[in-house]
Amino acid sequence: MMNKLFRIRNPIKRISISTQLFINYIFLFILLIVVLSLAVFYGFKHMENSFGMFFKDASDIAENIDTYGLQGAYKTSKLPVGSYIELLDSDQRVIDQYKSIHSIGYKYSDEEFDKLALNSYQYQIIYMSEEDNDNMLLIYNPKYPANEEEADVLARRILIQAITLFVVSILIVLLIYAKFTSKTIVRPIKEILEGVKTISMGDYSKRINYRSKNELGYLIGAINQMSRKIENEIGLREKSENNRKRLILDISHDIKTPLTNILGYAETLRLSDNINKESKNNYVDIIISNGRKANNLIQDLFELSHIESNNNTITMEDCDLSESIRKILLDYIPELEDNDMSFEFDIPDQRIMIKMNSQKLDRAISNIINNSIKYSGRDTTLRLKLKDLDNRAILIIEDNGIGIPADLAKDIFEPFVRADVSRNSKTGGTGLGLGITKAIVAMHGGTIQLDTSYVDGCRFIISIPKKGMGK
Ligand code: ADP
Repeated sequence: MMNKLFRIRNPIKRISISTQLFINYIFLFILLIVVLSLAVFYGFKHMENSFGMFFKDASDIAENIDTYGLQGAYKTSKLPVGSYIELLDSDQRVIDQYKSIHSIGYKYSDEEFDKLALNSYQYQIIYMSEEDNDNMLLIYNPKYPANEEEADVLARRILIQAITLFVVSILIVLLIYAKFTSKTIVRPIKEILEGVKTISMGDYSKRINYRSKNELGYLIGAINQMSRKIENEIGLREKSENNRKRLILDISHDIKTPLTNILGYAETLRLSDNINKESKNNYVDIIISNGRKANNLIQDLFELSHIESNNNTITMEDCDLSESIRKILLDYIPELEDNDMSFEFDIPDQRIMIKMNSQKLDRAISNIINNSIKYSGRDTTLRLKLKDLDNRAILIIEDNGIGIPADLAKDIFEPFVRADVSRNSKTGGTGLGLGITKAIVAMHGGTIQLDTSYVDGCRFIISIPKKGMGK
């Protein structure tokens, strides 16, 4: 049910939190690989810069000497300031040099030469090919560590730098990841919390305006739906509370008038010693008619509340609606004729079986016919048509009298709602007739409405489910 509800409300493409997290982890994994590669690349590059001559520079220079000579090779290799190169013969004597501190002819002692060759990274010795008579190339580069200890320190420093780079980058990546995750998970939770807080404080008009593609989006939809429902319920409750207040006011008002009349005329009768018979009868008639009014009102009120509150306990029997209506109409014919009203009835011959309480349904239909007689009166026509549909019976009752304004169509079934209050006081209605009719029709699982498209008078359309189709 939830899914159905939110498929309608949230047309955006959904991704579950688990898929979302999986995508995030993949994203994080790729970032970690990139960071690790960067750190390793940085370390290697630095190492190569510091010790690279052992692998590359020296042999390059040796090769370049054949082509460009000593000076040319030095320049091509872009050796740093302070470095020099020397060409030594097999006796370790300088036979050529560029930028060296030793002039040509300088001879290294064995001890001195061993020290250079074995202990220092700054001196690089390359044995040239045989054609060059076992000459040696000595390259001095002050940029490289002077000894093993210095080399160790340098290597350690590069390692620490690479690790620092890795750790800092990891922190940055985690920060980005946290932001990314927060956007998809933490942010909607924050919005939900704020919304729920506002709603719990009684502001049911609050809606959470955040679109989330994962399950939190469903949750937001459900919370919004809930607050919308509560808002509606509160609106309905307020409306019914206002209705109740209005009802009490209407009842007190409608009962006050006849009671005041009864009290007034009874008092007059008691105080008038020599009153003639005619006046006395007149006063008594007024008292009786007002007593009736009050009594009718109380009875109608009782009936309405009885139907509304005992809706399910009123006995219902399978009856033929066509037959019941025929009987009601037969009883009304003399009254219609007395009021110079014509009538047209169209009741099908076949039986229309419904579950009904015939006494109540009789009352419901009588209320409408009585109104037509009361409000339309002479030289008008009452029409009643019963239709047998597949699963419902439709009863149309219409007259061509003064009608009810269309803007009252909805409210006319509410207690004490009248189209014309002054006219109504003359007809002596309680203002509860249509309310009772509606409650009885509802009790039978049906509906009643005033047809606003009909403008020649009043037309009520009652629809009642047939046996086994409704209540
Ligand atoms: P009442 O006791 O006043 O007749 P109802 O609930 O039966 O109360 O009717 C409500 C109001 O609807 C009436 O007061 C009247 O103004 C209007 N009404 C009902 N039926 C008709 C009708 N057939 N023609 C004109 N007005 C009608």
